[in-house]
Amino acid sequence: MVVLPTMLLSAGHHPGDSGASHEDLTEHDIARGICFYLMGEIGRIPSSNQLPVVVVPTDMLSSKIVWVNKYYKLVGGPCFAVEVHVNSFHDGNVRGVSCYHAGIHGGSMQQEMAKAVVASVARPSWPSRGTKTQAESNLKSLGWISKTAMPALLVEIGFITNRTQREFMRSDSGQQALGIRLARGVEDAAVFMHSFTNDDKPGGEAMIRGEFSGKDWREGRAQDGLDDDMTALPLPRGRGGDSDEDTTEAMKLQVFPPGVKVTGEV
Ligand SMILES: [Zn+2]
Repeated sequence: MVVLPTMLLSAGHHPGDSGASHEDLTEHDIARGICFYLMGEIGRIPSSNQLPVVVVPTDMLSSKIVWVNKYYKLVGGPCFAVEVHVNSFHDGNVRGVSCYHAGIHGGSMQQEMAKAVVASVARPSWPSRGTKTQAESNLKSLGWISKTAMPALLVEIGFITNRTQREFMRSDSGQQALGIRLARGVEDAAVFMHSFTNDDKPGGEAMIRGEFSGKDWREGRAQDGLDDDMTALPLPRGRGGDSDEDTTEAMKLQVFPPGVKVTGEV
């Protein structure tokens, strides 16, 4: 049994700011549905690998970032963060799946992880739009990627502005199909990260160190000055207390090994 890096999973946005929408359908609702089915599928995949998953409590992005960095600081170990979003564009013909990452083009670990995610979701009718660095996003920098202390992926799973994709994502069966596809993708991404971070593998450590000098998750410390802010910021709602011990305990409860049915936050 190979224990893969822990995935910190977040459904993009939150009820107070639910992202892109079409009539009564919101990006956040779609993302939650897909994450729900993704979690169920991870418990079912017959695999020699164990992919631990931690559900990031629903909250504002800034609070989610603090939460995942605090999780990493307290629990440690290799982990990666995945947030599910739904895209929108003024041209309703545009459709497909893409994934943002913090790596560089040309075979970085994070780009390879993003490629695995895109490949798992893409179909001829649901085309791949490829992987992108955060610098290629409209915002030039994505908090989920730049302020998290571990490798992070942001999946734009489909377009709410494309009628066919929207209706698929609106349906329960569509969310389930996408959750199942994405489950394979994140496991592939975790396997890839595991192969890179395995110290037995020649060159692996050097590649990581070189690439993530600004995001050194191996050192177990959040970057970007978030450490200083952590004690001042409350944990997401529903977490017990502010003491590190309580927090660690509460967070452990959110780790679901394969086979466990999930009725949690996503
Ligand atoms: Zn979004």
